[in-house]
Amino acid sequence: MGKRLERGFRKFFREMNIYLDIDGTLIHEDLNKFRQPAEGLMVFLQAIRSYNLYWLTTHCMDGNRTHAQAFLKSVTPEELHTRIDLIKPTTWHTLKTEAIDFTKPFMWLDNDVLKEERTVLREKAIHDKQWLIEVDLVDNPARLVDITRDYFADSSQH
Ligand SMILES: [Mg+2]
Repeated sequence: MGKRLERGFRKFFREMNIYLDIDGTLIHEDLNKFRQPAEGLMVFLQAIRSYNLYWLTTHCMDGNRTHAQAFLKSVTPEELHTRIDLIKPTTWHTLKTEAIDFTKPFMWLDNDVLKEERTVLREKAIHDKQWLIEVDLVDNPARLVDITRDYFADSSQH
């Protein structure tokens, strides 16, 4: 990647919104590890702390983030709680894609994307700036560790 391209990439990356699902993405929903935090969750939350973060979960569909905050706080140390309070609420009814701002670069982390949501992404997402990052904690419990290393290695070090 050329220097100028790389700068452009870094700029859009810095400006991207990050949309966060909870169940099966940040916190296990499978019976074996039910309600346990995903491996690497603390480091991941530290690494994404300076981005624009949004909830994209059934725990926050109506713009009220109280339940989502309480749920994530229940599995994280108190030092992270003020950061969790900064995650912004969203409002959506049927499809999570209703809440996504397609005018901005984004990364959407989810374990359970509907067919209809995939269709919206296919139609509207700009492939190199608007990314769906699929998570499957049953298949790969260390997925957040991989994501932190692959995308946020710089940010997790300071
Ligand atoms: Mg989920």
